[in-house]
Amino acid sequence: MNLDYPITYIKGISVQRATLLYTELDIKNCNDLLNFFPFRYIDKTQFYQIKELQPNSSEVQIVGKITHIKSVAQKKGSRLVATFQDASGSMELVWFKGQKWIKDALKINTPYVVYGKLNHYNGSFSIPHPEMELVSEYKKKLQSKMQPVYPSTEKLSNSGVSNKLMRGYIQNLLQQVYDSIEESLSQEIIDDFKLIRKREALLNVHFPKSQEALAKAQFRLKFEELFFIQLQLVRKKLINKTKIKGFVFDNVGEHFNHFYKNQLPFELTNAQKRVLKEIRKDVGSGAQMNRLLQGDVGSGKTIVALLSMLLAIDNGYQAAIMAPTEILANQHYVAVSELLKGMNISVDILTGSVKTKKRREIHTNLEDGSLHILVGTHALLEDKVQFKNLGIAIIDEQHRFGVKQRAKLWQKGGPPQSSQREEAQIIRKKYMTARPSVYKLMKELQKSKKQQSTEAEQILWEQLRAKKLEHKFRRQHVIDEFIVDFVCLSKKLIIEVDGKYHFSNDQKEADELRTKILNELGFKVTRFTNEEVIGNIEKVVNKIFQELKSLPLGEVGGASPPHILVMTATPIPRTLAMSVYGDLDISVIDELPPGRKEVKTVHRFDSNRLSVFKFLKDEIAKGRQVYIVYPLIQESEAMDYKDLMDGYESISREFPSPKYQISIVHGKMKPADKDFEMQRFVKGETQIMVATTVIEVGVNVPNASVMIIESAERFGLSQLHQLRGRVGRGSDQSYCILLTSFKLSDDAKTRLKTMVDTADGFKIAEVDLKLRGPGNIMGTQQSGVLNLKIADVVKDSKVLVSARNTAISLLQEDPNLSKKENLPIRNTFSKMSKSSKIWGNIS
Ligand code: ADP
Ligand code: MG
Repeated sequence: MNLDYPITYIKGISVQRATLLYTELDIKNCNDLLNFFPFRYIDKTQFYQIKELQPNSSEVQIVGKITHIKSVAQKKGSRLVATFQDASGSMELVWFKGQKWIKDALKINTPYVVYGKLNHYNGSFSIPHPEMELVSEYKKKLQSKMQPVYPSTEKLSNSGVSNKLMRGYIQNLLQQVYDSIEESLSQEIIDDFKLIRKREALLNVHFPKSQEALAKAQFRLKFEELFFIQLQLVRKKLINKTKIKGFVFDNVGEHFNHFYKNQLPFELTNAQKRVLKEIRKDVGSGAQMNRLLQGDVGSGKTIVALLSMLLAIDNGYQAAIMAPTEILANQHYVAVSELLKGMNISVDILTGSVKTKKRREIHTNLEDGSLHILVGTHALLEDKVQFKNLGIAIIDEQHRFGVKQRAKLWQKGGPPQSSQREEAQIIRKKYMTARPSVYKLMKELQKSKKQQSTEAEQILWEQLRAKKLEHKFRRQHVIDEFIVDFVCLSKKLIIEVDGKYHFSNDQKEADELRTKILNELGFKVTRFTNEEVIGNIEKVVNKIFQELKSLPLGEVGGASPPHILVMTATPIPRTLAMSVYGDLDISVIDELPPGRKEVKTVHRFDSNRLSVFKFLKDEIAKGRQVYIVYPLIQESEAMDYKDLMDGYESISREFPSPKYQISIVHGKMKPADKDFEMQRFVKGETQIMVATTVIEVGVNVPNASVMIIESAERFGLSQLHQLRGRVGRGSDQSYCILLTSFKLSDDAKTRLKTMVDTADGFKIAEVDLKLRGPGNIMGTQQSGVLNLKIADVVKDSKVLVSARNTAISLLQEDPNLSKKENLPIRNTFSKMSKSSKIWGNIS
């Protein structure tokens, strides 16, 4: 049986059940079911002694005797408590239901095997409603080993799909397919990491013989899962580096130097210099840059972005910077325009609220190249926005954007990027309009040439058409004023097959000229003689294959994708970055500009509100400004909105006008109003900004020195960290006050403590990752990278690192996975890519 077969092929699974399993658990075919792993196991292989029990042991099996049974009265009714002893100690067994019946059945001082979930309370252990069996009976039966427990849903259990049933299905499946489960890794990797075989791993992850066998199975499957993800990411990175041609910014020219010498308002930090060096290396390498720039809030990413854009401009390209919100885009626009003042560089801004007329003007200026830098929101991604030659695209605060948007920016490189077909048409049209009559003649000629192709041409065409080379060829194609025998447009490779008359001197000269012109158009021309093709077609095809391999992709129409710099203020733990951004290079600004004071952070309860207000008044009296932020988790939630409005009212009472002026900003306001209020605060006309998290990202008001976060327990760690980053931007001592109610969950306490204890974004990110799991960090959900079935990027970070290193060295040795010993890997990999189990293009 094939693993691609639907699960209805498995004994006992009806169409109805199959539908249910699909809608509830996304299990479609046998392979899905095979890779549907238990989330825990009932382990009846081990016996515990009572003194070995740990508060965190979950289910335990113990042999002992009941010494005493009593009924204990409680608030409602009573419970039955048995004292249970073994040689090492004693504990309690407890029943709430069926007490009478159980009491009669239990035997005192007789050896029992008990099994159940362990409770720990006030230093003593108990098992409520244990499974019990007399040792004499237990010994008679052949005990089942470790039993898998599968994740389930309410709907499934209501429809009678019990764990036992699932177990049965998987058992049947394994019996049916065991022999056809193929190995997916090479022998070398299996040996290197002492892995067990794939089929053995699958069998043992579902039906482990022992804890040890389970551990081996899990390790093998985790390694495999992470390995194939890394293989995909590393391969993509290699392809980007070797195959995707990037614009070369080798000229550090007038603008960059002028700015650096005359307009740079401060000296760059060492971290900024280092990152800039990394970027310069990338953009000078000839490959497309795909770099992630991580730097905490306030670490100075903007200036790095600006200098990178100047590099592009110095080399005759345009630059774009995209921000997630209008406010932020505006701030970038203002900052960039300010910094470039007096320089001959045009900057403009495009957001959703830009009017049609202005929009058209921007489109025109972009297309004719007179606009150098375009700042904007995702309005930049609209199809109408076409650059003349976009050289670099910078994305600020990446996690706000989806992966798809990143991909879209890619396509804005160079002149409007066209498909091969459009490209061919453009070339043809250009020629047609220049010399229409000649064109017509050429078309006729082309037709007749196709009909009268030589034997050699036919042989080669058959080979090329079979697409073994993975690239599409056309034959007798018109390019400029020539008809070429074969052409691969995506690689701009022309193949000519020459008959005898080409050997005459006249013809040689003509051929040379023709080649020269085609070269100027960016084509490479390779010639074979009829004899070569007919005599040894393999050799010819092989040579073409080598040529194709050596040529970069993406040259059609001269359009390379722009260099991409993604900037994020959310530090991402290394292992997570490896899995989510494994196809990007990573730079880190790990140093704040000099003179920054750490933001003093405290946690206060609501009851301290009055003293907090007093403190605010003192700060305002010193000329400072303050933020008061309310959680608006869902901007549409009426409750949250009410909190904000109530808060605003009480603050207005506490800080009366005209002495105090208050701005308010929230997501329900029109952009223009929002902007107006923001601007008042930025200009210092208001001292207090009451806001929701719309101010979270990027806003820069150096005079603001206090950040009050209301209901701080409701914010996530990264959000708290971002919000705190709004203050401490000037030279004054800044403060962050986290206000909460008394009722706090353990997680909330950890978050608050972390904020008070550290300002290190990476440490905060690590805690966040531990608390929330990787699926909730940044935009990871969209990336699909973390739909891991068995591995865990946090807990299995060591496995992740070895999997990545293995993928890297494998691809170094065998980039196309064409070696025989790597065939299992190649097969699995291509199957995965096809079923898109591996996510598509990230960048
Ligand atoms: P972020 O990384 O959060 O985007 P910004 O680029 O907005 O940070 O920089 C924060 C502030 O620090 C800005 O006011 C900027 O002018 C200032 N700044 C950046 N780099 C330096 C530096 N090397 N020395 C002094 N101030 C700097
Ligand atoms: Mg910023």
